[in-house]
Amino acid sequence: MSLLRPDISAMQGYVPGYQPPDIASWIKLNTNENPYPPSPAVREAILAEVGSDGASLRTYPSASSQALREAAAELYGFDPSWIIMANGSDEVLNNLIRACASQGQEVGYVHPSYSYYSTLAEIQGAVVCIYGLNDQYRIEAFPEYYSGRIFFLTSPNSPLGFAFPIDYIEELATSCGGMLVVDEAYADFADSNALDLVRKYDNVVITRTLSKSYSLAGMRLGLAIARPEIISALDKIRDHYNLDRLAQAACVAALKDQAYFRDCCRRIRETREWFSNELRSIGYDVIPSQGNFVFAAPPDLNGRRVYDGLYGKKILVRHFSDPLLSHGLRITIGTRPEMESTMAALREIG
Ligand SMILES: *Cc1c(COP(=O)(O)O)cnc(C)c1O
Repeated sequence: MSLLRPDISAMQGYVPGYQPPDIASWIKLNTNENPYPPSPAVREAILAEVGSDGASLRTYPSASSQALREAAAELYGFDPSWIIMANGSDEVLNNLIRACASQGQEVGYVHPSYSYYSTLAEIQGAVVCIYGLNDQYRIEAFPEYYSGRIFFLTSPNSPLGFAFPIDYIEELATSCGGMLVVDEAYADFADSNALDLVRKYDNVVITRTLSKSYSLAGMRLGLAIARPEIISALDKIRDHYNLDRLAQAACVAALKDQAYFRDCCRRIRETREWFSNELRSIGYDVIPSQGNFVFAAPPDLNGRRVYDGLYGKKILVRHFSDPLLSHGLRITIGTRPEMESTMAALREIG
């Protein structure tokens, strides 16, 4: 394969969570999707955008996604010049690396967290540095002055579910010589977020996604919040028509229906607390979660055994073979009836 870059030929590639073809016959708790449909206003907005004959699809969408930036800016309390919209937050994570790290420069992140950062950095030819966690869920040996180009902090963490305290993230921001990207994919399910730090520190960027809390994983919508200089750079890098017309219509409708959004998040948080307590009552070790999932370990610390047992009952959860994670499972919070079925299955599996 001499036509390819040798590093691209050699790289593994990211393996996303399994999407079974017969999705309706599973209780699907493996990729942190939202069990509730998006706001009814989303469907209406998509249908209105398509119109009676689909003629709107003939022309390119807005290149700037300006209406979306304005809706997000109003929601989060920023000027629209501080917001960029993305085709999933994955797109903006990629473009942050392209904007900050040249070939051979350092990209850092915490393990365990979202290993896709590593894949994106490899494609860029950057050097990936992995930092571990200590028993208190703080970064092991984070340097007094971080001299890499960019550091990704997933908070709340996935797959473990804990969130870093804001004053700790602030400490990291002050000792970070590069960009500190706080990946807040799960912040809508958490008690706090780092939005204030974007205003306060010029090296802090926050990424968000509509995939989880807004039930729109299938539309591919994410965003970043950062200083206008950073946003301008990201605007140069992205595909000029990165969001299609239907995604743009869906996004504005979803962000504007805050009552529906808040109700979904509240139900998921309530179910999360109920499910965590049920798991503890059968001897599972459950990390208190700030996301829409829990990381839980059975008493025999054999995550794979329980994964297989659930799989046999058509309940799909996430098991990671990594030695730091193989003792447990990451289980997405579904509807209350789905989690009741899951509990019944876990009791049977033992
Ligand atoms: C789901 C997830 C993403 C990706 O979000 P998309 O908007 O669907 O691309 C990014 N980071 C973390 C930590 C996630 O869990």
